[in-house]
Amino acid sequence: MVKIIKDNETTFDALKDKTIAVMGYGSQGHAHALNLQESGLNVIVGLRKGSSSWVKAEGDGLKVVTVAEAAKAADVIMILLPDEKQAFVYYSEIEPNLKAEDALVFAHGFNIHYNQIVPPKNLDVFMVAPKGPGHIVRRTYTEGIGVPGLIAVYQDATGKARDLALSYAKGIGATRAGVYETTFREETETDLFGEQVDLCGGLSALIKTAFEVLVEAGYQPEMAYFETCHEVKLIVDLIYEGGLERMWHSVSNTAEYGGMTVGPKIINGYSREAMCKALERIQNGEFAKEFILEGMVNHPVLKAMERQEKEHQLEIVGKQVRECIPWLNKNIDDD
Ligand code: NAD
Ligand code: MG
Repeated sequence: MVKIIKDNETTFDALKDKTIAVMGYGSQGHAHALNLQESGLNVIVGLRKGSSSWVKAEGDGLKVVTVAEAAKAADVIMILLPDEKQAFVYYSEIEPNLKAEDALVFAHGFNIHYNQIVPPKNLDVFMVAPKGPGHIVRRTYTEGIGVPGLIAVYQDATGKARDLALSYAKGIGATRAGVYETTFREETETDLFGEQVDLCGGLSALIKTAFEVLVEAGYQPEMAYFETCHEVKLIVDLIYEGGLERMWHSVSNTAEYGGMTVGPKIINGYSREAMCKALERIQNGEFAKEFILEGMVNHPVLKAMERQEKEHQLEIVGKQVRECIPWLNKNIDDD
């Protein structure tokens, strides 16, 4: 069993006299910067001149400077830029401004694990990764709770990297929900696996395929949408709150029997083989290479797939259905 580190086992001591630079003010950046500042720590935000986030961060009461200036001024540098841009910004603006014993921090291990950023040996390098999107990291903090977090130490030049990581995790509220220790390799590989196989990739493919099967069999697309997409949330909420047991308990006996007996025929040996293949491509670096090269040529494959998906009947019908449900029309950035 892993040991879960709780709030009362951690202090702010390691960070108390340090300046923390949060690079980027997107999903994670805004949540980290605001939470750390409200925890009483000394925070600056590093951004591009002219970026729209600049005004926003200042409006939120934060001190904003360029990435290079922030790297120079800070002792602890958290990189919350898009993963595919981190290496370029790191080499051009961050590394030239670092001093010995500074700490370089990540919220995802990708760039370190796949050698896109190779930091000098005289730095602490660690990870603090909340297990949730930025707006939840922010909202739960303001509610006095938090999102669970992972920490991992990659390089410990000062002997204090782990203490710094725990203080940082406390500063964003993660210790309130428990902090787990991992490694850059484990975090990176499991994170990519989850998003490809189970969460974003697997789930969206499951929904789309089930929708297509019903529509091709002549059922109304609206009925297909409700069954294969809309109700996913109801089921996932039950699993999230109380595990599979609560979900099976809440659904009818018919749903439980049908689900238990047919589910494994749908996600079957073939699916398992495909999952193992996806894991292998994550472990041997093939996926990372493909994604990095795709980014270097401005994401042609990703853009084409986004375009095609927009035209999928599931998306068109879903939009019409959701328009009739006022509380579902909240903008994604509303909170
Ligand atoms: P994001 O795309 O929401 O935000 C990126 C920020 O970087 C924006 O403020 C953007 O203006 C800024 N930026 C982009 N290019 C820049 C440049 N050249 N110079 C300066 N600033 C620039 O990113 P995010 O989703 O917050 O992800 C940040 C990190 O957090 C990534 O490593 C990601 O893997 C990790 N992470 C994200 C989530 C999540 O749910 N979004 C969860 C856990 C970890
Ligand atoms: Mg993830």
